Amino acid sequence: MNVELICVGTELLLGNILNTNAKYISEKCAELGLSMFYQTVVGDNPDRLKDCILTALGRSDCIITSGGLGPTNDDLTKEIITEALGLKLVEDKETVDRLYYFFNKISRPGQSMTPNNLKQAMVPEGCTVLTNKNGTAPGILIEKDGKTVIMLPGPPRELVPLFEEYCIPYFLKKSNETIYSVMVKLVGIGESEAAARIDDILNNSTNPTVAPYAKTAEVHLRITAKAHDEEQAKAMIEPVFERIKDVLGPYIYSTDEEETLEDAIIHLLNEKGLTITTAESCTGGLLAGRLINVSGASDVYKEGFVTYSNEAKAKRLGVSKDTLDTFGAVSEECAAEMARGAAMAAGTDIGVSTTGIAGPLGGTPEKPVGLVYIGIYYNGGTKVIKTNVPRGRQEIRERTVVRALDLIRTTVLQY
Ligand code: ATP
Ligand code: MG
Repeated sequence: MNVELICVGTELLLGNILNTNAKYISEKCAELGLSMFYQTVVGDNPDRLKDCILTALGRSDCIITSGGLGPTNDDLTKEIITEALGLKLVEDKETVDRLYYFFNKISRPGQSMTPNNLKQAMVPEGCTVLTNKNGTAPGILIEKDGKTVIMLPGPPRELVPLFEEYCIPYFLKKSNETIYSVMVKLVGIGESEAAARIDDILNNSTNPTVAPYAKTAEVHLRITAKAHDEEQAKAMIEPVFERIKDVLGPYIYSTDEEETLEDAIIHLLNEKGLTITTAESCTGGLLAGRLINVSGASDVYKEGFVTYSNEAKAKRLGVSKDTLDTFGAVSEECAAEMARGAAMAAGTDIGVSTTGIAGPLGGTPEKPVGLVYIGIYYNGGTKVIKTNVPRGRQEIRERTVVRALDLIRTTVLQY
């Protein structure tokens, strides 16, 4: 099937907005194996728009349009296409109900429904209405005389979900194919390092494809296969996953779409029957917050400490005055004592600590902003890692949390 894209909007012609919908739709169509030979951008002008539509109907199997579905008079896409297809507009009851619901329940004061809004409930007879959960104008899919026309609203936050929810399944069904993907989640390795190690896989995979996504201090790899059914797609993904595992195995914490790093850790702790506590300085509770995000965390996590000042570190965790005076609070020695002291105070198997310079103030040549020590007490001993991420305060704190979570993960795996 070949697809033609028409993006409607004078703003696009004037360069006022970037045509990100074209990029998105083109990319998705390529992934779906659909051929796209033509793309047009046309202004909000009825004659020129009609001209584009008639030309496209003459040479393409499927036309996708973006924009011009809104309530105002310059929004003409639907009217022009309906006319070009020789059809009539009819009222869609469900959309009318949805508009009333939207304006009664969701809209802010001062925003009320006008007759113009009802224009959005008029659809070509015999079409499929694509319910827009993020806006008022529905998308429309219509098949006539062997041609398909799909109309999508212009705002990307409305267009993208509609495309994902309706168009991808529509095209897959047409081609008798399924798309199935697995997300491989890694921690403890940077995106460029991970990409370099699986360079050949990233560059030479077409089906399945492997695409990296960078998260804060994590890397996710999506392996996607297109096949006749899910079973076949899974079988195609398996050897690619095995190759990734051979190279990056120790960094993989999950292949479950929903599972977060903290989920995986709480699960591991539960499995091994271990309890944990945290002693946080520069992360000030963020680490505890991540662990407590997980429902069921209470089985392994009972209490934690936010010890920001030196006094608190001494009073709550028993960090020695000597350590604080000689090495300072941001030191390997202090991190170790914090982790041990926390585990002793809370009576847990494991204690994790963070202490560092989150900035923007307080850095010195010896201890620059971004220097962080993360300590862990386990099996009666301590281990400390030193990290240095010269970023903004918030990012330093967030990255420290992920490094600490990874330290917990790799430690618990040794039990
Ligand atoms: P609305 O109900 O918001 O009027 P619409 O379907 O009528 O939606 P347009 O009026 O054409 O869409 O565009 C609305 C907004 O959507 C534009 O101001 C712009 O921000 C965004 N938009 C439209 N077309 C594109 C595009 N091709 N790429 C990216 N953004 C777009
Ligand atoms: Mg509009």
